[in-house]
Amino acid sequence: MKDHYQLAVIGAGPAGGYAALTAARRGIDVLLLDRREEIGFPPACAEGISEKGLTRFITPDPLFIATEIFAITFTVGNGFQYTYRSPDRLGYVLDRPRFDRFLVEESVRQGADLWTRAFVSGVDISSDHPVRIRIERPDGPTTVTADYVIAADGVESMVGRMVGICTLLPLRQSESSLQYRVAGIDLDPRCMEFCVGEKYSPNGYLWVFPKSNNTANIGLGLNPAESGNDELRKRLDRFLGERYGRYTIEFENGGMVPKFTGLDNLGRDNLLLAGDAARTIDSLTGAGIARALHTGQLAAQTVAEALVGKITRRDVVETYRGAVDREIGKDLRFLHAAYQVFRRFDDADWEAMIRFLQSYLAKQKAGSIDPAMMIKSALAQAPRLMRLARHVL
Ligand SMILES: Cc1cc2nc3c(=O)[nH]c(=O)nc-3n(C[C@H](O)[C@H](O)[C@H](O)COP(=O)(O)OP(=O)(O)OC[C@H]3O[C@@H](n4cnc5c(N)ncnc54)[C@H](O)[C@@H]3O)c2cc1C
Repeated sequence: MKDHYQLAVIGAGPAGGYAALTAARRGIDVLLLDRREEIGFPPACAEGISEKGLTRFITPDPLFIATEIFAITFTVGNGFQYTYRSPDRLGYVLDRPRFDRFLVEESVRQGADLWTRAFVSGVDISSDHPVRIRIERPDGPTTVTADYVIAADGVESMVGRMVGICTLLPLRQSESSLQYRVAGIDLDPRCMEFCVGEKYSPNGYLWVFPKSNNTANIGLGLNPAESGNDELRKRLDRFLGERYGRYTIEFENGGMVPKFTGLDNLGRDNLLLAGDAARTIDSLTGAGIARALHTGQLAAQTVAEALVGKITRRDVVETYRGAVDREIGKDLRFLHAAYQVFRRFDDADWEAMIRFLQSYLAKQKAGSIDPAMMIKSALAQAPRLMRLARHVL
């Protein structure tokens, strides 16, 4: 067993799996570590991803695709409903455990070493020396060193905290969520649904993401600073009772979904954060899979540049921050600003917004839709929405 690597990646979710794959493809000597025994399990995710968000990085494969999405229904608490149907595929609902495993197996095929049941309990960094990583394994603790580390250890990112980066989640910068895998219901497996407004979630949304024609991930997000935690279950159960009457809950999950908090804390010395650990999440929808793939890729590419001497060790964090900012910074900032507007919406605002989308989308080709332009145009339509938007956009 080796005790030194060029790169250690901590966490084998989408960010870590794709970082390891990107690095291994470039011939980097990489170790991928995860505390779990079974990669990707249990999943805490609604598993939705847009067409572009997936295909930019990975070729879709029936192995990890549960359903293909061609329609989106928007339901407002006041009863208003609109379904957008696209001739082109809009996205997918993944099988997350299989997707995460696919990324990891690909990285191993490309030469990465994988240690599961490997809990990282300590990290000592220095820009002049390799990083020392303490790992608790079933057969006892061990230490490895690595020239660089990518910490892709998810929303809590203990590894970030180990090196002095504040990864604590203030209540106002997060959403708590509860989700059921619901079976025994009738649905269109090609249509996702977003339910908004006071009846469903006063400051977030409720989602129905189909896994098949009778199974779905149905969940709800709420800002914990503004609503008590038992609200989640009460609201979700009420929705299921009213909508479906009879149904079976196969399992439940959930967790904290962070909001975007800026790009100042993306690493230190020779350690970079990627994915949820870096808070590169879309504040509006809570979607983090595509951003996790993207930041995992950028982090691995930055390490590759350092290893061939294109940049110095001391420039690694800043180079990575620059790349993330260039590629997704503008989007993340816009989506966070849009979230600040939407969380103040009442049912009438939602209806005005969705009616605008209805006329806007009727005139656009699916491939040419720019979500940022669409949201800006919608907010500019109604005077009240514009007043709200002026505060933050
Ligand atoms: C209820 C819910 C629904 C969601 N729905 C969607 C959705 O539909 N679409 C979407 O795009 N996003 C969704 N998200 C967000 C999405 O799940 C995350 O953005 C995504 O999983 C982030 O990937 P990651 O690789 O950064 O972290 P993770 O997927 O959290 O992976 C982190 C990995 O690190 C490992 N780890 C942690 N600590 C250590 C340690 N000390 N040592 C070793 N290993 C460690 C963990 O075991 C884990 O495997 C949802 C989130 C929630 C909570």
